[in-house]
Amino acid sequence: MNLGKKQEILDNALRYATSTKIFLSDSGAIQALPQIIIRLFPAMPILPVADENTWAAVGKETLKLLVKSGISVKSPYIFPGKPTLEADYTYAIELSELFRKTPKGIPLALGSGTINDVVKLGAHLAQRPYICVATACSVDGYASDGAALLTEGFKMTHPCPAPAVIIGDSDVMARAPALLTASGYADLLAKVPAGADWILADFLKEDPIRSVSWHLVQQHLHAWLADPKDTDAIFTGLTLCGLAMQYQKDSRPVSGAEHLLSHVWEMEHHEHQSAPVLHGIKVGIGTLLITAVFTVLMEQGVAGGALLESNNTVIHNKLALLDASFGHLANIEQMHSTLHSKYKDPRRQEMRRKKLLANWPELADQIRSQLYSYEEVATLLTKAGCPVRSQDIGLDKNKAVATLRKAQLIRNRYTVLDALDDLGLMENVIQIISSDTRFF
Ligand SMILES: [Zn+2]
Repeated sequence: MNLGKKQEILDNALRYATSTKIFLSDSGAIQALPQIIIRLFPAMPILPVADENTWAAVGKETLKLLVKSGISVKSPYIFPGKPTLEADYTYAIELSELFRKTPKGIPLALGSGTINDVVKLGAHLAQRPYICVATACSVDGYASDGAALLTEGFKMTHPCPAPAVIIGDSDVMARAPALLTASGYADLLAKVPAGADWILADFLKEDPIRSVSWHLVQQHLHAWLADPKDTDAIFTGLTLCGLAMQYQKDSRPVSGAEHLLSHVWEMEHHEHQSAPVLHGIKVGIGTLLITAVFTVLMEQGVAGGALLESNNTVIHNKLALLDASFGHLANIEQMHSTLHSKYKDPRRQEMRRKKLLANWPELADQIRSQLYSYEEVATLLTKAGCPVRSQDIGLDKNKAVATLRKAQLIRNRYTVLDALDDLGLMENVIQIISSDTRFF
């Protein structure tokens, strides 16, 4: 895509943003930062936050630029580079206390997903706007109005404003570790099945599609995904996703069942070779698994599922599975209430099942035109440098596939996993994917 067209798309998208005023995605974009600060935050001291890796990647250079322009910069807060910083709520609290010590100080996040998320919430708690200089196109969360943080062991999105300014310098991002770019690519590719989930939810009147957020994410998605090594395109696509979340005030436009799988693996503290697996890498495996689910439904149709249990039995069985899977977590009570809210209308499951069975051929056509085939997804992920087998992130295939059952429980967001459950096909599909050698 040519640069003029890209800028036009970005400018158009910013019209819908409520928190982000400036978004630069270009080679050398960092050079514009001092003038932006002088214009938006005159005479306000800057409070840089980084980790040792991102400080080396862009921190020192940024500091020099700002000081040269006469901007007051407080001493940076630098997290250790190793082990990989976990996106934990306690860091946001720590930072908010630090930010409060400098009246009118403007936090400056220098980093990727984790640094941005802890600064985002920290800045909000200290009631400050903030700036983000992205060091890798690794996640879609830069521009979202929320910080996804582990909170007492549970992955929670805390509502808080997105950065006022986002700088994505493609020269900086091109120097990022290759696996971070691969992770961002997979997070962007996830918007393909996430869109299919939204089509399903819209059809069943569970969650109507809103055209602005749909188009922000989906309109040029294939163009952003065309070259898994084009950091500029990946970053632009991911930031548009963030803006869609700002507009929607929810992550529905960018996150479906593939993210629920990843959240479960996060809650299980899944590690590979003694290190947490990057968000996008897990989401990439989730994207493959959910594409496999849709593939099976396309091939086998949706009839012939197990009979629906009574509403009370459904709730009883699901609470038992929830306790067995996540009973050790502090907020299990909250998970119980989410599950109750999913099934609060005792007739709804039956109604959805009837509607899916009666309209499947046309709905399947719509979903098919949204999705890439399993082979296409695997090829794109391989080109991006992402693992395409669950074993490659230390999850054996049966364990990975069995996550479908648990992921259905954790959020009140209608996805293909709920459709499997409504249709009585969950066990059947798990068994087919587990034994089919095309998958993983
Ligand atoms: Zn994501």
